[in-house]
Amino acid sequence: MQQPVHDHDSAEGLAPVEEYRDDVLSSVEPLAPIELHLQEALGCVAARDVHAQEDMPSFSSSAMDGFAVRSADVAGASPESPVELRVAGRARIGRRPDATVGGGESIRIDTGAPVPAGADAVVPIEACLSSRETVRVLQPVSPGKHVRPAGEDATPGDLLVPAGRRLGAPELGVLAAAGHARMLVHPRPRVVVISTGDELIDPGQFPQFGEVRDSNAYTIFGAVRETGARPYLAGIVRDDVDAFREAIVSQLVQADAFISSGGVSVGEHDVVKRAFFKRGEVRFTRVAMQPGMPQAFGRIEGKPYFGLPGNPVSVFVSFEMFVRPALMKMAGRRDLDRPQVTAVLDTDVEGPKGKTVFARVRVRRAEDGWRAASAGARGSNLFTSVARSNGLAVIPPGVDRIEAGSQCRVILFRSMED
Ligand code: AMP
Ligand code: MG
Repeated sequence: MQQPVHDHDSAEGLAPVEEYRDDVLSSVEPLAPIELHLQEALGCVAARDVHAQEDMPSFSSSAMDGFAVRSADVAGASPESPVELRVAGRARIGRRPDATVGGGESIRIDTGAPVPAGADAVVPIEACLSSRETVRVLQPVSPGKHVRPAGEDATPGDLLVPAGRRLGAPELGVLAAAGHARMLVHPRPRVVVISTGDELIDPGQFPQFGEVRDSNAYTIFGAVRETGARPYLAGIVRDDVDAFREAIVSQLVQADAFISSGGVSVGEHDVVKRAFFKRGEVRFTRVAMQPGMPQAFGRIEGKPYFGLPGNPVSVFVSFEMFVRPALMKMAGRRDLDRPQVTAVLDTDVEGPKGKTVFARVRVRRAEDGWRAASAGARGSNLFTSVARSNGLAVIPPGVDRIEAGSQCRVILFRSMED
């Protein structure tokens, strides 16, 4: 049965999702860069270009066990008429060769060892007959053969890691190879998470009648951590203006941003509103979306503050749409969007016509493309469906229903394997 569209679904006076999101994003900035050891810098965004300052590799080395030679000396070598060379010394890995290669000479060399001065190629051991003092070379080698030249990978001035690149395993390796034990990066935002509500108890407690376990803190914890930022759970605050203000103020020194859930609706317990209303730094906006309509955003002592609604699904969706990209921007990330696909719906999805509706769906890859099935009912309190879904189907404003068999845009919020 299709739900009637109620009056409170009216879109009048509501801010479009994209507009609100742009507003939020344009008022946060990347955090000032700091130098971090490579181990801590993993996952952070490079705050400067890193160029090679020396040849990489820094010396020419042998790609084979064999003899370093002058290729011209062995140009006529064959099994029938081997070229005999004097063995002038040894080139071992990690050491300077103990001799150079002159005309008619060679040096015994190991894979990875520096190629001695005078040699321009390596004859593999299989193509040699050697005694201690001499070697008989059975085949010619072209200049450069079996030599990994210095600077083959990079030369001074080559761009190794561009500013804006998120440091993954390959970047850490490249930076280490180029001699950067530390790297200038945008730090991970430290995000203080607060739950508001007289009814809330910790997840480890058994609820008295009417009490509700604080799940939002953990949803937000996970979502913050998944962006690469560092969440701090500041606990539950009662519906009390002073307690809320105190909780925020006491965390100011260690926070780059704040997220609270609950207390932003128009009810009489709208704690957040009363705590920050007069200061004019926090704005309350009714966003034309479902779930997640009431939103607060602003600055507290200059630090971004996100006041999310209390309903668990609203928390999840509004984090996805507004907080996640904002935290990523603070972390210096440039690509802020989740991957999206166009999927064919297995089931109808519907919602109020005036709003952007984000419907929880399970997306899968079928033979003929992407398919998406509803993960459950629409209510913004029904959180278990979020855990069954991997995507949010987007029903744009002006549309109240997309039928099974039709195409729909879907935001993928986790990888298909998860
Ligand atoms: P509120 O926006 O504070 O009016 O909360 C809306 C609904 O979300 C109420 O049913 C709350 O009990 C519920 N809620 C608020 N905060 C949390 C939380 N941290 N964890 C789970 N449910 C919550
Ligand atoms: Mg509340």
